[in-house]
Amino acid sequence: MKAWVLHDISGPQSFVLEDVETPDPGPGEVRVKLAASALNHLDIWSSLGLPKPHLPHVAGADGAGVIDAIGEGVSSVNPGQEVVVNPSVGCGTCPACLRGDTPLCSTYQILGEHRWGTLAEYVVVPERNVLPKPDQLGWEEAAAYGLVTGTAYRMLRRARLSSGDVLLVVGVGGGVSSAGLALGKTMGATVYVTSTNTDKICRAIQLGATGGFNSTNLFAKDLKQEIGRGADVVLENVGPATWEQSVRSLEPGGRLVTCGSTSGTKVEITVPHLFFKQLEILGSTMFDYAEFAAVTNLIGSGRVPVVIDKIFDFGDLPAALARLEAGQQLGKIVLRA
Ligand SMILES: [Zn+2]
Repeated sequence: MKAWVLHDISGPQSFVLEDVETPDPGPGEVRVKLAASALNHLDIWSSLGLPKPHLPHVAGADGAGVIDAIGEGVSSVNPGQEVVVNPSVGCGTCPACLRGDTPLCSTYQILGEHRWGTLAEYVVVPERNVLPKPDQLGWEEAAAYGLVTGTAYRMLRRARLSSGDVLLVVGVGGGVSSAGLALGKTMGATVYVTSTNTDKICRAIQLGATGGFNSTNLFAKDLKQEIGRGADVVLENVGPATWEQSVRSLEPGGRLVTCGSTSGTKVEITVPHLFFKQLEILGSTMFDYAEFAAVTNLIGSGRVPVVIDKIFDFGDLPAALARLEAGQQLGKIVLRA
């Protein structure tokens, strides 16, 4: 099969398109012929060795396609079935998996990080990691929503976002953030966004945000001036560059939930501010099988739009990665087979 293969980890230019042996599905696994796949920052981090993958490596967490082979004992799907791929792989039997904490599974894997992923013609995953493709979704949409929408869904669930809440999405350009905006709206929240890019704020408002603020300003003050209060939930994955303002944006009793920190890894917390206001800082990563199924239902029913930035041909990965690296996108960058 054709695949974009990493033989070294010197950055996104390390991806090489070449022929590799097509993997066979083992017991309990299925092979999917991919119709489309989608990029995530994870792919860039893998190419930089953060964390270092076992080389040679095929990155790519998201994809959709047609089952073309099944391993021994597979009973829930058949060859020819159109599916979306769930990139969050747990064993399904350890205590963490049994209580729905797949990301804390003792043998947890992210597709494209810990096992070969979707930047290829075919991908092999456990049977439980495919779901029927919702009929009304095109291949590009089906391939695009998985990782970011699942991640945003778990974040908002952990932060107990309720109808009527004010949600502030910090740095709305990224895939998780734009999915958070779409999900937040569907869950009945009033959503505000921040970005350093005015065009992205305008686009977010077109997608349902009530308003937006420039991230380089004191956006906590701007939010409170505009609506007379802070946010009940802040979805934050920028890190040090916005952290202080994100925490200051919270209402008393508010929750900040984070799944990443693209601007660095260390932040400061003013402890009295934390306890006097009874704030909560929540970490979240990826999602469990029930959350992926819930998100697939929401997307499939049309209640949550899939935000696609741009579609590239499979052979144009370097240009697609360059767009992702430059942070020009709002929504998902998709590769079409
Ligand atoms: Zn497990």
